[in-house]
Amino acid sequence: MRTKQTFIFTALTMLSFCVSAEALKEKADPLIDLVQEKVVAWRRDIHEHPELGNREFRTSALIAEHLRGLGMEVSTGVGHTGVVGFLRGAADKPVVALRADMDGLPVTERVDLPFASKVKSTYRGEEVGVMHACGHDNHVAILMGAAEVLASMKDSIPGSIKFIFQPAEEGAPEGEEGGADLMIEQGVLKDVDAIFGLHVGPAPLGTIGYRPGGFMASSDRFSITVKGKQTHGAVPWGGVDPIVVASQIILGLQTITSRQLDVTLTPSIITVGKIQGGVRFNIIPDELEMLGTIRTFDSAVRSDIHARIKKTAESIAAASGASAIVEIVKGTPVTVNDPELTNLMAPSLEAAAGAGKAGIVPRTTPAEDFAYYQEQVPGLFFFLGVADPDDPTPASNHSPYFYADERALPVGVKAMTYLALDYLSKE
Ligand SMILES: [Zn+2]
Ligand SMILES: [Zn+2]
Repeated sequence: MRTKQTFIFTALTMLSFCVSAEALKEKADPLIDLVQEKVVAWRRDIHEHPELGNREFRTSALIAEHLRGLGMEVSTGVGHTGVVGFLRGAADKPVVALRADMDGLPVTERVDLPFASKVKSTYRGEEVGVMHACGHDNHVAILMGAAEVLASMKDSIPGSIKFIFQPAEEGAPEGEEGGADLMIEQGVLKDVDAIFGLHVGPAPLGTIGYRPGGFMASSDRFSITVKGKQTHGAVPWGGVDPIVVASQIILGLQTITSRQLDVTLTPSIITVGKIQGGVRFNIIPDELEMLGTIRTFDSAVRSDIHARIKKTAESIAAASGASAIVEIVKGTPVTVNDPELTNLMAPSLEAAAGAGKAGIVPRTTPAEDFAYYQEQVPGLFFFLGVADPDDPTPASNHSPYFYADERALPVGVKAMTYLALDYLSKE
């Protein structure tokens, strides 16, 4: 039971933490204003020179030079082209990590900008345009800005900060590893107590959106090979028709999400996107293959769905005398924002965006490899709105028309800076 004395002590300690956190943010504000011009210049430069996953050579050299100039301990070549800067504050611990992804996409830019990308590269053997169509140029510039702000006040920071610049968020080239999981394998989360990351998107300019718990979906692929027995199309009883069996399996799979799982708890999606089999109209083929994707917002539901897909496909096939071979390839996990950390940091996000401009938003079905960090340490991932207010239909991420309004950049720098300062003061 808590005595009156300890209560007063705790209240006083909390008050002193709050005061110091407020003082730190006040100290940071003019520095954030000061760095803005540089942040815009970095962002334009990186936007004009996008690089594909695991090939972010120019970008990482730019980052490493900047972090070294700030007096940080810098590691390069982490997970191929990753850069990690360590800023030792007034105390070694706790350690908070801030992450930005660096890769562009094989998209030819169609936005009319003086710094639009004209870069071309090779992707899967084909010549492609390269563009920061997911806005990772903004993430890098924002984190470089926050690094400069935090480095210039490091003696008053009650902990240390790790700046993680990650390659290949969109996936490594075929036959290569890369991204968050590879950086983790190489020890990037060592001593890290919590991690923060952001993503820009076509939400109202300068707003921040987040969600405790499952925020972005897990993304897994599956293939189902249905094996029957070939026969004449006019004599179906002479064989086993894998096309009819596959049709039943597709409908069976849809009942997993619509009839078997509690939709009031968490949504999930099973999509069959490709079916291939058969040669001509009057032959029932031997076998066919289906490919699909699974999206979930809960790790337990994710494993449950994997088991149910296997059981549904195998049982339906067996009922017709066919067989089904199910293969599930696990992709990105669920982006799970630690609920306690999210609630703790929500005021920092509101302070950065302004009153009423930060709040809880719906889940989104794309996946994000920040999820791998969150499997290891408590993490919070949030969205920053970069839509041009004069554009009634802002393009989505990955579109050749995706455009990020630079006026949101200061909010990004502020959010990352405040999260680090507030978290380290609260520990
Ligand atoms: Zn993307
Ligand atoms: Zn992205």
